[in-house]
Amino acid sequence: MSDGITGTGNAALTRRWQGVMMDNFGTPRLPLVKGRGAWVWDAEGNEYLDFLGGIAVNALGHAHPAVVRAVGEQLASLGHVSNLFMAEPTVRLAERLLQLAGRRGRVYFSNSGAEANEAAFKIGRLTGRTHMVSATGGFHGRTMGALALTGQPAKQRPFLPLPGEVSHVPYGDVEALRAAVTPRTALLVLEPVQGENGVVVPPPGYLRAAREITAATGTLLVLDEIQTGIGRTGRWFAAEAEGVEADVVTLAKGLGGGLPIGATLAFGAAAELLTPGAHGSTFSGNPVVCAAALAVLDTIERAGILDHVTWTGQRLRRGLEEPAHPLVREVRGAGLLVGVALHGEVAARVQRAAQDHGLLVNAVTPDVVRLAPPLIVSDREVDTFLTGFRAALSETLAAGLTAA
Ligand SMILES: *Cc1c(COP(=O)(O)O)cnc(C)c1O
Repeated sequence: MSDGITGTGNAALTRRWQGVMMDNFGTPRLPLVKGRGAWVWDAEGNEYLDFLGGIAVNALGHAHPAVVRAVGEQLASLGHVSNLFMAEPTVRLAERLLQLAGRRGRVYFSNSGAEANEAAFKIGRLTGRTHMVSATGGFHGRTMGALALTGQPAKQRPFLPLPGEVSHVPYGDVEALRAAVTPRTALLVLEPVQGENGVVVPPPGYLRAAREITAATGTLLVLDEIQTGIGRTGRWFAAEAEGVEADVVTLAKGLGGGLPIGATLAFGAAAELLTPGAHGSTFSGNPVVCAAALAVLDTIERAGILDHVTWTGQRLRRGLEEPAHPLVREVRGAGLLVGVALHGEVAARVQRAAQDHGLLVNAVTPDVVRLAPPLIVSDREVDTFLTGFRAALSETLAAGLTAA
Protein backbone atom coordinates (compact mmCIF):
# COMPACT_ATOMS: atom_id res chain seq x y z
CA MET A 1 0.00 0.00 0.00
CA SER A 2 1.33 3.43 -0.87
CA ASP A 3 -1.74 5.66 -0.38
CA GLY A 4 -1.43 6.52 -4.06
CA ILE A 5 1.47 8.91 -3.32
CA THR A 6 4.04 8.97 -6.09
CA GLY A 7 7.06 11.07 -6.94
CA THR A 8 10.68 11.28 -5.87
CA GLY A 9 11.00 14.88 -4.68
CA ASN A 10 12.06 15.50 -1.09
CA ALA A 11 8.51 15.84 0.26
CA ALA A 12 6.97 13.05 -1.84
CA LEU A 13 9.65 10.50 -0.99
CA THR A 14 9.39 11.42 2.67
CA ARG A 15 5.63 10.71 2.60
CA ARG A 16 6.19 7.44 0.71
CA TRP A 17 8.76 6.44 3.39
CA GLN A 18 6.27 7.19 6.13
CA GLY A 19 3.66 5.04 4.40
CA VAL A 20 5.64 1.81 4.18
CA MET A 21 8.80 1.85 6.32
CA MET A 22 8.82 0.72 9.95
CA ASP A 23 9.28 3.63 12.29
CA ASN A 24 12.39 2.37 14.10
CA PHE A 25 14.54 5.19 12.72
CA GLY A 26 11.88 7.87 12.83
CA THR A 27 11.67 9.66 9.50
CA PRO A 28 15.15 10.34 8.07
CA ARG A 29 16.05 13.95 7.40
CA LEU A 30 16.43 13.98 3.66
CA PRO A 31 16.32 11.79 0.56
CA LEU A 32 19.71 11.67 -1.18
CA VAL A 33 20.07 10.71 -4.81
CA LYS A 34 23.73 11.12 -5.72
CA GLY A 35 27.17 11.31 -4.15
CA ARG A 36 30.69 12.05 -5.32
CA GLY A 37 33.71 12.31 -3.06
CA ALA A 38 32.72 14.27 0.04
CA TRP A 39 29.57 15.70 -1.61
CA VAL A 40 25.98 14.48 -1.87
CA TRP A 41 22.86 15.82 -3.58
CA ASP A 42 19.24 15.61 -2.50
CA ALA A 43 16.20 14.87 -4.64
CA GLU A 44 15.84 18.54 -5.56
CA GLY A 45 19.43 19.09 -6.65
CA ASN A 46 20.63 20.77 -3.43
CA GLU A 47 24.29 20.08 -2.69
CA TYR A 48 25.75 19.12 0.71
CA LEU A 49 29.25 18.67 2.02
CA ASP A 50 29.02 15.31 3.79
CA PHE A 51 30.77 15.49 7.16
CA LEU A 52 29.06 12.35 8.42
CA GLY A 53 30.06 9.95 5.65
CA GLY A 54 27.15 7.56 6.18
CA ILE A 55 28.15 7.44 9.87
CA ALA A 56 31.88 6.82 9.43
CA VAL A 57 31.20 4.33 6.62
CA ASN A 58 32.13 6.07 3.37
CA ALA A 59 35.88 6.00 4.05
CA LEU A 60 36.76 6.88 0.45
CA GLY A 61 33.75 9.13 0.00
CA HIS A 62 30.97 8.48 -2.47
CA ALA A 63 31.40 6.68 -5.79
CA HIS A 64 35.16 6.21 -5.44
CA PRO A 65 36.37 4.75 -8.76
CA ALA A 66 38.49 2.04 -7.07
CA VAL A 67 35.46 0.70 -5.16
CA VAL A 68 33.13 1.02 -8.15
CA ARG A 69 35.60 -0.88 -10.35
CA ALA A 70 36.30 -3.61 -7.79
CA VAL A 71 32.60 -4.23 -7.15
CA GLY A 72 31.70 -4.20 -10.85
CA GLU A 73 34.48 -6.56 -11.85
CA GLN A 74 33.83 -9.00 -9.02
CA LEU A 75 30.06 -9.02 -9.53
CA ALA A 76 30.56 -9.57 -13.26
CA SER A 77 32.78 -12.60 -12.64
CA LEU A 78 31.46 -14.23 -9.44
CA GLY A 79 28.97 -12.53 -7.14
CA HIS A 80 28.24 -15.08 -4.42
CA VAL A 81 29.31 -18.62 -3.55
CA SER A 82 27.89 -19.30 -0.02
CA ASN A 83 30.08 -20.76 2.69
CA LEU A 84 29.92 -24.20 1.06
CA PHE A 85 32.50 -22.90 -1.42
CA MET A 86 35.35 -20.44 -1.24
CA ALA A 87 36.44 -17.42 -3.25
CA GLU A 88 39.87 -15.84 -3.43
CA PRO A 89 38.91 -12.24 -2.47
CA THR A 90 37.61 -13.52 0.89
CA VAL A 91 40.89 -15.23 1.71
CA ARG A 92 42.91 -12.28 0.45
CA LEU A 93 40.96 -9.83 2.62
CA ALA A 94 41.50 -11.98 5.71
CA GLU A 95 45.23 -12.18 4.92
CA ARG A 96 45.34 -8.42 4.42
CA LEU A 97 43.56 -7.61 7.70
CA LEU A 98 45.85 -9.92 9.69
CA GLN A 99 48.86 -8.40 7.96
CA LEU A 100 47.63 -4.90 8.98
CA ALA A 101 47.18 -6.18 12.53
CA GLY A 102 50.74 -7.49 12.34
CA ARG A 103 49.87 -10.82 13.94
CA ARG A 104 48.87 -14.36 13.07
CA GLY A 105 45.21 -14.99 13.72
CA ARG A 106 41.89 -15.92 12.11
CA VAL A 107 38.99 -13.94 10.67
CA TYR A 108 35.23 -14.42 10.63
CA PHE A 109 33.32 -12.22 8.16
CA SER A 110 29.74 -11.01 8.64
CA ASN A 111 27.52 -8.26 7.32
CA SER A 112 27.43 -5.58 10.01
CA GLY A 113 29.00 -4.30 13.18
CA ALA A 114 26.43 -5.92 15.42
CA GLU A 115 27.15 -9.27 13.80
CA ALA A 116 30.89 -8.81 14.22
CA ASN A 117 30.24 -8.33 17.94
CA GLU A 118 27.77 -11.25 18.08
CA ALA A 119 30.59 -13.46 16.82
CA ALA A 120 32.84 -12.04 19.56
CA PHE A 121 30.07 -12.74 22.10
CA LYS A 122 29.86 -16.38 20.99
CA ILE A 123 33.65 -16.72 21.04
CA GLY A 124 33.45 -15.42 24.61
CA ARG A 125 30.87 -18.05 25.56
CA LEU A 126 33.05 -20.77 24.07
CA THR A 127 35.69 -20.03 26.69
CA GLY A 128 33.29 -21.79 29.09
CA ARG A 129 32.73 -18.58 31.07
CA THR A 130 29.54 -16.52 30.84
CA HIS A 131 30.24 -13.24 32.67
CA MET A 132 31.15 -10.26 30.48
CA VAL A 133 32.13 -6.65 31.12
CA SER A 134 31.59 -3.57 28.98
CA ALA A 135 31.47 0.17 29.51
CA THR A 136 28.56 2.42 30.35
CA GLY A 137 27.63 4.55 27.36
CA GLY A 138 29.34 2.11 25.01
CA PHE A 139 27.66 1.04 21.81
CA HIS A 140 28.13 -2.41 20.32
CA GLY A 141 25.03 -2.92 18.17
CA ARG A 142 21.33 -3.74 18.30
CA THR A 143 21.05 -7.53 18.00
CA MET A 144 20.33 -9.21 21.35
CA GLY A 145 23.88 -10.24 22.22
CA ALA A 146 25.42 -6.99 21.02
CA LEU A 147 22.65 -5.08 22.82
CA ALA A 148 23.49 -6.90 26.05
CA LEU A 149 27.02 -5.49 25.71
CA THR A 150 25.76 -2.01 24.79
CA GLY A 151 25.90 0.05 27.98
CA GLN A 152 22.80 2.17 27.31
CA PRO A 153 19.84 1.18 29.51
CA ALA A 154 17.27 3.10 27.41
CA LYS A 155 18.11 0.98 24.36
CA GLN A 156 18.09 -2.24 26.41
CA ARG A 157 15.01 -1.81 28.60
CA PRO A 158 12.24 -2.84 26.14
CA PHE A 159 14.16 -6.03 25.32
CA LEU A 160 15.01 -7.38 28.74
CA PRO A 161 15.98 -10.03 29.58
CA LEU A 162 19.08 -9.94 27.43
CA PRO A 163 21.75 -12.66 27.30
CA GLY A 164 23.98 -12.24 30.29
CA GLU A 165 25.38 -11.72 32.53
CA VAL A 166 27.03 -8.41 31.61
CA SER A 167 28.47 -5.87 34.06
CA HIS A 168 28.74 -2.27 32.84
CA VAL A 169 31.52 -0.12 34.29
CA PRO A 170 32.21 3.61 33.92
CA TYR A 171 34.30 4.22 30.79
CA GLY A 172 37.85 5.34 31.43
CA ASP A 173 37.92 4.15 35.04
CA VAL A 174 40.76 1.64 35.57
CA GLU A 175 39.80 0.81 39.17
CA ALA A 176 36.25 -0.06 38.07
CA LEU A 177 37.73 -2.45 35.50
CA ARG A 178 39.95 -4.03 38.12
CA ALA A 179 36.92 -4.63 40.36
CA ALA A 180 34.60 -5.97 37.64
CA VAL A 181 36.92 -8.28 35.68
CA THR A 182 37.51 -11.55 37.54
CA PRO A 183 38.64 -15.10 36.65
CA ARG A 184 34.92 -15.76 35.90
CA THR A 185 34.88 -13.10 33.17
CA ALA A 186 34.82 -14.41 29.60
CA LEU A 187 35.46 -11.10 27.90
CA LEU A 188 35.86 -7.39 28.34
CA VAL A 189 34.71 -5.34 25.36
CA LEU A 190 35.66 -1.69 24.90
CA GLU A 191 35.68 0.94 22.17
CA PRO A 192 39.05 2.73 21.89
CA VAL A 193 36.96 5.92 21.54
CA GLN A 194 33.23 5.82 22.36
CA GLY A 195 31.68 6.97 19.09
CA GLU A 196 27.93 6.85 19.68
CA ASN A 197 28.33 8.17 23.21
CA GLY A 198 29.56 11.49 21.83
CA VAL A 199 33.17 10.77 20.75
CA VAL A 200 34.45 10.15 24.28
CA VAL A 201 38.22 9.66 24.49
CA PRO A 202 39.49 7.67 27.50
CA PRO A 203 42.45 8.82 29.59
CA PRO A 204 45.89 7.79 28.32
CA GLY A 205 46.88 4.30 29.44
CA TYR A 206 43.28 3.05 29.78
CA LEU A 207 43.49 0.42 27.04
CA ARG A 208 46.92 -0.69 28.29
CA ALA A 209 45.45 -1.14 31.77
CA ALA A 210 42.55 -3.10 30.29
CA ARG A 211 45.07 -5.37 28.58
CA GLU A 212 46.97 -5.99 31.82
CA ILE A 213 43.82 -6.64 33.85
CA THR A 214 42.37 -9.10 31.34
CA ALA A 215 45.68 -10.88 30.91
CA ALA A 216 45.82 -11.46 34.67
CA THR A 217 42.35 -13.06 34.81
CA GLY A 218 42.53 -15.01 31.54
CA THR A 219 39.74 -12.81 30.13
CA LEU A 220 39.52 -12.05 26.41
CA LEU A 221 40.05 -8.38 25.60
CA VAL A 222 37.73 -7.47 22.73
CA LEU A 223 38.30 -4.09 21.10
CA ASP A 224 35.32 -2.83 19.15
CA GLU A 225 37.02 -0.87 16.35
CA ILE A 226 33.88 -0.81 14.24
CA GLN A 227 33.86 3.00 14.21
CA THR A 228 37.53 3.74 15.00
CA GLY A 229 39.19 1.17 12.73
CA ILE A 230 40.37 1.25 9.09
CA GLY A 231 42.11 4.61 9.25
CA ARG A 232 39.43 6.70 10.93
CA THR A 233 41.86 7.93 13.61
CA GLY A 234 44.90 8.12 11.31
CA ARG A 235 45.99 4.56 12.10
CA TRP A 236 44.67 1.25 10.79
CA PHE A 237 43.45 0.47 14.32
CA ALA A 238 42.97 3.14 16.99
CA ALA A 239 44.44 0.88 19.70
CA GLU A 240 47.83 1.06 17.97
CA ALA A 241 48.20 4.45 19.66
CA GLU A 242 48.62 2.61 22.97
CA GLY A 243 50.41 -0.38 21.49
CA VAL A 244 47.67 -2.69 22.76
CA GLU A 245 47.13 -6.11 21.22
CA ALA A 246 43.61 -7.39 21.85
CA ASP A 247 42.48 -11.02 21.67
CA VAL A 248 39.58 -10.06 19.42
CA VAL A 249 39.09 -6.98 17.22
CA THR A 250 35.78 -6.20 15.53
CA LEU A 251 35.46 -4.10 12.37
CA ALA A 252 32.65 -2.94 10.11
CA LYS A 253 31.57 0.62 9.13
CA GLY A 254 34.49 1.97 7.04
CA LEU A 255 35.83 -1.43 6.00
CA GLY A 256 33.55 -1.95 3.00
CA GLY A 257 33.69 1.63 1.69
CA GLY A 258 29.87 1.66 1.69
CA LEU A 259 29.18 -2.03 1.20
CA PRO A 260 27.93 -4.01 4.20
CA ILE A 261 30.65 -6.06 5.85
CA GLY A 262 31.69 -6.93 9.39
CA ALA A 263 34.86 -8.70 10.45
CA THR A 264 35.85 -10.40 13.69
CA LEU A 265 39.60 -10.86 14.01
CA ALA A 266 40.81 -13.24 16.70
CA PHE A 267 44.32 -14.03 17.87
CA GLY A 268 45.99 -16.73 19.91
CA ALA A 269 43.68 -19.24 21.62
CA ALA A 270 40.63 -17.06 20.83
CA ALA A 271 41.20 -17.72 17.12
CA GLU A 272 40.57 -21.45 17.58
CA LEU A 273 37.29 -21.36 19.54
CA LEU A 274 34.86 -21.31 16.61
CA THR A 275 34.75 -24.89 15.34
CA PRO A 276 32.72 -26.31 12.42
CA GLY A 277 29.02 -25.63 12.94
CA ALA A 278 29.51 -23.16 15.79
CA HIS A 279 28.54 -20.03 13.86
CA GLY A 280 27.81 -18.75 10.37
CA SER A 281 25.92 -16.53 7.97
CA THR A 282 24.86 -17.10 4.37
CA PHE A 283 26.59 -13.94 3.14
CA SER A 284 29.74 -14.39 5.26
CA GLY A 285 32.77 -13.42 3.17
CA ASN A 286 30.73 -12.56 0.09
CA PRO A 287 33.31 -11.94 -2.67
CA VAL A 288 31.76 -8.67 -3.87
CA VAL A 289 31.90 -6.97 -0.48
CA CYS A 290 35.36 -8.43 0.13
CA ALA A 291 36.53 -6.99 -3.21
CA ALA A 292 35.17 -3.61 -2.12
CA ALA A 293 37.02 -3.84 1.20
CA LEU A 294 40.26 -4.79 -0.57
CA ALA A 295 39.87 -1.71 -2.79
CA VAL A 296 39.41 0.42 0.34
CA LEU A 297 42.54 -0.98 2.00
CA ASP A 298 44.64 -0.73 -1.19
CA THR A 299 43.57 2.87 -1.77
CA ILE A 300 44.23 3.94 1.83
CA GLU A 301 47.70 2.43 1.56
CA ARG A 302 48.65 3.63 -1.94
CA ALA A 303 47.34 7.17 -1.50
CA GLY A 304 48.94 7.66 1.93
CA ILE A 305 45.54 8.32 3.45
CA LEU A 306 46.52 7.52 7.06
CA ASP A 307 48.88 10.52 7.19
CA HIS A 308 46.29 12.59 5.35
CA VAL A 309 43.74 11.73 8.07
CA THR A 310 46.16 12.80 10.80
CA TRP A 311 46.89 16.18 9.19
CA THR A 312 43.35 16.87 8.03
CA GLY A 313 41.97 15.89 11.41
CA GLN A 314 44.32 18.35 13.11
CA ARG A 315 43.30 21.08 10.69
CA LEU A 316 39.62 20.38 11.39
CA ARG A 317 39.99 20.30 15.19
CA ARG A 318 42.19 23.39 15.27
CA GLY A 319 39.72 25.23 13.03
CA LEU A 320 36.91 24.36 15.44
CA GLU A 321 38.92 25.47 18.49
CA GLU A 322 40.42 28.70 17.18
CA PRO A 323 39.05 31.24 17.41
CA ALA A 324 37.01 29.89 20.31
CA HIS A 325 33.26 29.96 19.64
CA PRO A 326 31.04 30.80 22.63
CA LEU A 327 28.73 27.82 21.94
CA VAL A 328 31.61 25.28 21.87
CA ARG A 329 32.59 23.69 25.18
CA GLU A 330 35.14 21.18 23.92
CA VAL A 331 36.49 19.71 20.69
CA ARG A 332 37.66 16.12 21.05
CA GLY A 333 38.39 12.98 19.10
CA ALA A 334 41.15 11.46 17.02
CA GLY A 335 41.90 11.81 13.32
CA LEU A 336 38.67 12.40 11.42
CA LEU A 337 36.37 11.25 14.23
CA VAL A 338 35.52 14.49 15.99
CA GLY A 339 33.02 15.43 18.69
CA VAL A 340 32.05 19.07 19.14
CA ALA A 341 30.64 19.36 22.67
CA LEU A 342 28.31 22.32 23.06
CA HIS A 343 27.07 24.46 25.92
CA GLY A 344 23.50 23.19 26.34
CA GLU A 345 21.41 20.57 24.59
CA VAL A 346 21.48 22.32 21.23
CA ALA A 347 23.16 19.70 19.01
CA ALA A 348 19.96 19.02 17.03
CA ARG A 349 19.54 22.74 16.37
CA VAL A 350 23.16 23.05 15.21
CA GLN A 351 22.64 20.03 12.98
CA ARG A 352 19.61 21.71 11.36
CA ALA A 353 21.38 25.04 10.95
CA ALA A 354 24.39 23.26 9.41
CA GLN A 355 22.11 21.51 6.92
CA ASP A 356 20.70 24.90 5.91
CA HIS A 357 24.32 25.84 5.14
CA GLY A 358 24.73 22.71 3.00
CA LEU A 359 26.61 20.67 5.61
CA LEU A 360 25.68 17.20 6.85
CA VAL A 361 26.64 16.56 10.48
CA ASN A 362 25.17 14.42 13.26
CA ALA A 363 23.73 15.38 16.64
CA VAL A 364 25.06 12.17 18.21
CA THR A 365 23.95 13.12 21.74
CA PRO A 366 21.83 16.11 22.87
CA ASP A 367 24.93 18.25 23.40
CA VAL A 368 27.50 16.80 20.98
CA VAL A 369 27.78 17.12 17.21
CA ARG A 370 29.76 14.31 15.61
CA LEU A 371 31.88 14.79 12.50
CA ALA A 372 33.11 11.78 10.53
CA PRO A 373 33.83 12.98 7.00
CA PRO A 374 35.23 10.71 4.31
CA LEU A 375 38.93 10.08 4.92
CA ILE A 376 39.70 11.61 1.51
CA VAL A 377 38.24 15.01 2.46
CA SER A 378 40.52 17.82 1.22
CA ASP A 379 41.94 20.81 3.11
CA ARG A 380 39.75 23.08 1.01
CA GLU A 381 36.66 21.08 1.90
CA VAL A 382 37.62 21.27 5.58
CA ASP A 383 37.93 25.05 5.27
CA THR A 384 34.58 25.30 3.46
CA PHE A 385 33.05 23.23 6.23
CA LEU A 386 34.56 25.37 8.99
CA THR A 387 33.16 28.58 7.51
CA GLY A 388 29.64 27.17 7.20
CA PHE A 389 29.68 25.36 10.53
CA ARG A 390 30.83 28.47 12.38
CA ALA A 391 27.91 30.37 10.83
CA ALA A 392 25.55 27.58 11.92
CA LEU A 393 26.90 27.77 15.49
CA SER A 394 26.44 31.55 15.57
CA GLU A 395 22.89 31.35 14.21
CA THR A 396 21.99 28.73 16.80
CA LEU A 397 23.42 30.91 19.54
CA ALA A 398 21.61 34.03 18.25
CA ALA A 399 18.28 32.17 17.95
CA GLY A 400 18.69 30.91 21.52
CA LEU A 401 19.26 34.43 22.79
CA THR A 402 16.19 35.66 20.90
CA ALA A 403 14.07 32.86 22.34
CA ALA A 404 15.27 33.56 25.88
C1 LIG B 1 28.03 1.29 14.54
C2 LIG B 1 28.67 0.53 15.60
C3 LIG B 1 28.28 -0.79 15.90
C4 LIG B 1 27.12 -1.45 15.22
O1 LIG B 1 27.31 -1.62 13.85
P1 LIG B 1 26.06 -1.95 12.92
O2 LIG B 1 26.66 -2.16 11.57
O3 LIG B 1 25.15 -0.76 12.99
O4 LIG B 1 25.40 -3.17 13.44
C5 LIG B 1 28.96 -1.45 16.90
N1 LIG B 1 29.97 -0.88 17.56
C6 LIG B 1 30.38 0.38 17.29
C7 LIG B 1 31.52 0.96 18.04
C8 LIG B 1 29.74 1.13 16.31
O5 LIG B 1 30.12 2.38 16.07
